[in-house]
Order: sequence, then structure tokens, then C-alpha cells
Amino acid sequence: MYTENFLPTTKSSLWRPEFDGKFAIRADSMREETIGRSAEGRPLIATLVGSPTARTRVLVMAGQHGDEQTAIRSVKRLVATNGPRLATGANLQIAILANVNPDGAARRTRLNAGGVDLNRDHQLLHAAETTVLHGFIRDWRPQLIIDVHNYPPRRKHLLRQNLIYCQDLFVDIPTNPNLINGPFGRLTQDLLQTVVSAINHRGYRCERYTLVNSSGRVRHSTPDVNDARNGLALRYGIPTVLLEGRQPIRRDRPAVRERLQTVLQTAIFVILAWAEGNHQMLKAAKMPMTSAVLRSRYLADAQARKLEFKVLPSGNIHRVALPGKYTPHLKVTQQVDLPQAYAVPAALTNLCSILIRHGFSHHMANQDEFMRTQGYQLHAVVPSRRLHRMPRQLTLERVEEKRSLDNYFIFPVTPEAGTSLAVFLEPQSKHGLHRYSETGLTLTSNTVYPVLRITQENSYRG
Ligand SMILES: [Zn+2]
Repeated sequence: MYTENFLPTTKSSLWRPEFDGKFAIRADSMREETIGRSAEGRPLIATLVGSPTARTRVLVMAGQHGDEQTAIRSVKRLVATNGPRLATGANLQIAILANVNPDGAARRTRLNAGGVDLNRDHQLLHAAETTVLHGFIRDWRPQLIIDVHNYPPRRKHLLRQNLIYCQDLFVDIPTNPNLINGPFGRLTQDLLQTVVSAINHRGYRCERYTLVNSSGRVRHSTPDVNDARNGLALRYGIPTVLLEGRQPIRRDRPAVRERLQTVLQTAIFVILAWAEGNHQMLKAAKMPMTSAVLRSRYLADAQARKLEFKVLPSGNIHRVALPGKYTPHLKVTQQVDLPQAYAVPAALTNLCSILIRHGFSHHMANQDEFMRTQGYQLHAVVPSRRLHRMPRQLTLERVEEKRSLDNYFIFPVTPEAGTSLAVFLEPQSKHGLHRYSETGLTLTSNTVYPVLRITQENSYRG
């Protein structure tokens, strides 16, 4: 169904299969920069390729999970063997972070040295590595981010149905409900279709990332905002693409392993060409929002999801209609209008430092200034039985008050920060920071929620 027509008609020098690699690197077109250090002090190195004045900047990163060696190697090789080819695009600058979790890579572990899964840390920013990464993104301001991983093809509950994943590459895009509509959502959909189509066209197996959980539910990537794909897209308004290359299994021959590295590189080149061809759309795809989606639920599709699998015992590949409920859609169930700012008590030091690590602009409230605020009186809260979930039941009431905000940090709702501040701070948010007890934002019956909405600043002086 997807054809080569999806590919942008760009004159990019990156996008030529007959490319012969004779371009020379200019001395100033490739340099390494240490952007920070891991928990154990290993350098986090960005290789910057291309002109600093290029109109399009793309960040390519790999190795958030230290045990995903194929992903790390293929991105490292992108620099080693394709540097000249990358550098020729006068309109493109690329930052390559091939090893985001060097401590984990040294140990061959998924987690970092402190036991943090970096790709679940984009909301709390516990880890040194994710904090450095976010700081780099705020400084360098890429217009597109490619996050490269490996997925294990054998999953226990699928093996019970004699199924093994056989895709060379899975791709996904931001799926948080704040990111799937409007120009931003249309653009990332186009990118997804472009990659799937182009990679299949080149003889690989490529699909949108499809997960089957142990209860049989079939879905794409989660709408949660703690991974890079949704977390970076929501926080900075930057389209972030997830590439999940198949992890080699022990008996894969060298040629197969080579192919699994090549497919990742090919996908990166397709995305770079797409970014260069669509630079104007990328610049325009901001999220000007007056409201934020706080809750949504999965909606089932009428059709079952069909996907190719290696079917045991023959090992032949068949297209299988997955029996579980396929839920590719989200229905918005709660939204909130954005205030002018949020006020957070300075006494909640952990929460304030998380928000400051995210780079949200902030200032202390002027102590003799009265502001129009909205707070929440929490009535009945029935917590979830599962960790880090929103309450099963929450009844609350919005309370308006003019008051001074002595010892509060004020976080203004700017166009860039607004949606993520609401998702992080509103008590009814499914992905709120109140899910984590260390933020001090626990929801409890018959209490006042500590974070306030400011609806009018400088209303009058008391
Ligand atoms: Zn991974």
C-alpha cells in the first residue's frame, strides 16, 4: 500500500543509492564534543557532522540500553564509514551520540550504573546521562531526533503461540495523545509511512512497532511520556522517531548480523533525506496549544492486526492475524485549559529540582504580590494497586483564590513548556508526576493539592 511516492522529491546528496562516496570531509565539518559525563565519569561524546549553519539539525542517538550492541555499533559505524557522505549535505547538520549509556555498555547491561532504565527516565531525569542528553537538546535544538534500539525477537507469550518476530526493523513515532493530532501528528505519520515504505522497498521486513502483551492485547508504543520518543517530543516539541532493529540471536550468521546493522543505517539515511526534504514542515510543526490532554483510553480497531511472523516448528514466515484486541486508537477522555503559570511550593525540593533539570523557565514569586490562583481540593482518592499509576478514582474540586505566593516557584506556561507542564503537574493527569512518591505530590483524600494554577499574574498588589 505504501509506495515510493511517499518519498520526498529532494535533491539531497544523501539520498542516492548510486552514491560513490568520493566526497571529501572538510576539516571543519566533523568534530567530537564531550557533552557531559556518565554516572561513573565516562564521557558522553557527540560527533557533529556537517555545517553549523545548516538549516536542518538532526540528532541520532543509540545505546540508552547498554546491552543493545547492534544499535550502538551501527550508529558508531555511521560515523566511521559514512562520515564523508553525511558531511556533504550543506543543508544538514547531524549530531551523533552513539553511546548514551557508556557505563551500561561497558557492563553489557540494559540499565545504567545506578540501575536506571534511561528510556524510562525522560520524565524524572534521575540519571546523569538523561540530564546531560536533555541539556544538549536544549542547547543544540535539533528539529528531529532518531532514537536507535534493538528488540528481542523471541517473547515468551508469543512463543507459546509458536510465533517469533521476524521484522528486521520496527519503527514508531510519538503516541502521547497531545502529539498525534494537528500538523505535528500529520508530519510524524508521514515520516513513519516513508520509513516503512522505503525499507520494505529495499527488501527488508519493516513494520510499525507492534507489541503483544501477555494478556493478548495488541498495540503500538505506549502513550506514556517517560521514554525518549514521547518524552522529548512532548517536552521540546521535537518529532522523535524510534527505530527498533532486530536483536541478533546466537545462531545468526555474520551475513545476517551485517544485514541487521545495515538496515538501521539505511533507515537513518531515509530519515535524514526526509528531514532535509521537509525542513520547512519540520520548522512549522510546533504545538501551539491552549489545552492539554490529561487522560485517554485505548480504542479497539474493527480489524485484527496482521503481521508477518516466523511460525514454529517449520520456521517459515507467514502473515498472521493476531487474535488479541488491537487498539491503535486513543480516545481523549479528559483535557484541561492551560493557565498562565503553575506555582510549586519551594518546600517540594525534589519536584522543583526535576522541573529545573527539565529546563523549564522559572522564578521565585514576589512575596507581596497577590495573584489570582486556582487550586484543587481533593475529596476522594482511591489509589491504584499498581505502582506509578494514576488513582483508580479521584474526585476533586477547583478552588479559586487571590493570594500571595511566598516561597513558591513560578513556572510560566510558554508555548514550548505549556503542554508538558500540564501533563506533569495537573492532578488528573494519567502521566502526572504525582505517580512518583519521591516528588512529594502524592494524591490523598481530603487534602489540598500543593501545586497551584496562576490564572492572572500581577492582578494587584496587596
Ligand atoms: Zn532499547
